[in-house]
Parts: sequence; structure tokens; C-alpha cells
Amino acid sequence: MRTLLTILVVVMAAVLIGVFRILPAYIDNDMNVVRPHAPYQISEDAAQLHAELRVADLHSDMLLWMRDPRRWNNRGHTDIPRLAHSNVRLQVFASVTKTPAGQNYDSNTADTDNITALAMVQRWPVDTWTSLYARARFHARRLQRLEGAADRLVIGRNATDLERALEDPDGPMVALLATEGAHSLEGQIEHLQGLYDEGYRVLGLHHFFDNELGGSLHGLGGHGLTPFGEQVVLQAVEMGMVIDVAHSSHQVVRDVLALSDKPVIVSHTGIYGHCQTRRNLPDELMQTIAAEGGLIGIGFWADVTCDDSPAGVARALLSAVELVGIDHVALGSDYDGTITASFDGAELSVLTHELLRLGLTPDEVASIMGENAIRFFLANLPQETDE
Ligand SMILES: [Zn+2]
Repeated sequence: MRTLLTILVVVMAAVLIGVFRILPAYIDNDMNVVRPHAPYQISEDAAQLHAELRVADLHSDMLLWMRDPRRWNNRGHTDIPRLAHSNVRLQVFASVTKTPAGQNYDSNTADTDNITALAMVQRWPVDTWTSLYARARFHARRLQRLEGAADRLVIGRNATDLERALEDPDGPMVALLATEGAHSLEGQIEHLQGLYDEGYRVLGLHHFFDNELGGSLHGLGGHGLTPFGEQVVLQAVEMGMVIDVAHSSHQVVRDVLALSDKPVIVSHTGIYGHCQTRRNLPDELMQTIAAEGGLIGIGFWADVTCDDSPAGVARALLSAVELVGIDHVALGSDYDGTITASFDGAELSVLTHELLRLGLTPDEVASIMGENAIRFFLANLPQETDE
């Protein structure tokens, strides 16, 4: 009897260790893949230019995974040391709070959710198991703890934070918090102030399913903003938040453009004319976004670029430049967003190398690699200190 009990306890312990220690790392490693490759050869010109760049990226889902962001990890795409190694000075971190089972680019309902299991397996606080708003606050607090623990990162709450950090070439990386789908408001307008207070400055309206604000690009009906969606967009813009329409339906994008004078971003995408997929908005919509001062972040994965090699991503960036102009193109990696990338957060100099090879000037490369995004957020984040 005693032996049986011992065996039972040992088996249970093994299962628990498996579930809470090994499984999260396994899932992370399995979902955020870096394609194995020999070290990339970077020309001397590119290495020299890259060393002087201020790199910015509009979309990473790093906060979703429980690897230690203060360490250089051998799994996933990013952590602070790897991004710093690539001279990243501005990084937008998105909060993913709900994803449908069988997620696809065509049609998803809001009935299922994979993040609940991920929250449990990764031992997130119990309130995150049932509340999307709690998940968004938890992601913000992870970043806040990082800000407290390391002098290498500050959360950008206004333009002054960004300006101050960037003044010093050895200054900290500025992290901006973004929702990936404003369903984390749980349909309550009061939660918008709550998210703002936690540090959120980019409001991604949608993810893979229709929500209280309107239609997703991958939802059921492709409908536009609801009255609640209009209310949220107007209030967010008033508060100084930047609207991200990366996963919104065509009609939501048109409605946002009609509703607000403030420029919007498409944080992670490709260009339809270059890579014809439902995930990429129509070219003329991209041109309208850019004409109103918006910013287009080009992703690093094959679904949106049709080629995820460094040269392929550089060509996707060039196609964006050709469509919307050099001032409106940025990086939008989607690192740690369950994609496969051919280079990780430490290897961004390979993009500098490939962009130069395509014939872009050093100034043009600097614009794409970070200066456009820095200029955009200096102009569009809240201008005065919060206090
Ligand atoms: Zn996304």
C-alpha cells in the first residue's frame, strides 16, 4: 500500500513538473521557431551602418511567453539582450488575450480560446484564467517589473520618455505597450482608462475574431465599427493612444480613417500587390493610411511576405516603399507571435545588409529600420508628462 502511494506521488509530481516546467518551454520552442541556418554574412558597409542605427519594431508578442526576457534565451525570437544586440531602441510589445482554436486567416468565431490553457500551463495569476482584461493587465505588469529590474528598458508613456531615452546613445530601450485586440476591454469603456494607466499607448482593435468593437479581418462578416467601437476609438485617440488596424476588417479600417484625423498604424502586415493573401489589406487602403500620415510595419513571416528569407523580407519592405513611400514603412516583425522566422531578434543587421543590396541608400535604410517609427511616436504619443 505504502509503495503504491509512493509511486502515485512520484508519478503525480512528474506529471506536474511536466505540465508546469517542461510543457511551457516546449510550446514556446515549438511555436516561435527560428529556422536553423548558418551565421549570416554581413558586409562591412552594412555592419558599419547598422552599428549607428536606431532600430524600431512595431510588433512583438514576447510578453505571451514565460521565458526570462532579461536573459539571452536559446528559444523563441526575442528577449531584451537579443534586441539590444541588434540596436533596437523602440519595441512595441503586444498583449494577446484570446485566440480561437483552429486559427486561420479566413474565418473564425469568438467561441473558443487557446489562451486560457496557456495561462494555466504557464501559471499566470488565477484572475487571468477567466478575464481578458486581467490578462492585459498581467502583460503590462510583466513589462513594468522588467522596467523596475533592469535599467536597459523603460516603458514609453509619452513623447518625452521616448525623447529622453533616445538622447543617450547608450540609453535604455523604449517599450510601448499595445493591445492585440481591444476585446481586453471586455466591452467596458471604463477599462480603457485602466489600460492607459497600466501603460498601454497603442490600441490594436482586433485579432482573429469579431469583437465588441467591430469586424476582424478574419472574422465572420467583415462588418465595420459598432457604436461601442466608435466610442472606444474616439476616446482612445483623445487620450493620445495610437490605433493599430493590423487585424481589422476593411470596413473597420475605413470607418477609423473617417472617424479620426489621427494617423493609424498597421503594425504587422505585408503588401497585397507583393504577396496576395487575405492577411494583407488592399493596396489602395494602405495608400490611404499612408497619405493620412500612417505607418506600415512589414512582418518577417512567409504568410505575409511570401518569402521569409532575409532577402525576401527586404523585398517585401521595398514593395511597401514603392507602394506608400519611404517615410511610411517600418519593421513589424511579429516576433514570438507563433511564426517561423529565418532570423531572430539578435540578427536584424541582416536586414540592413539586404536592404543595401537592393540599392537603398543608408538614409533610406535608417528610415525603414527605425527612424520612421521613432518620428511617428514622437509626434503621436501624448506630449506632456502624465503627472
Ligand atoms: Zn497578429
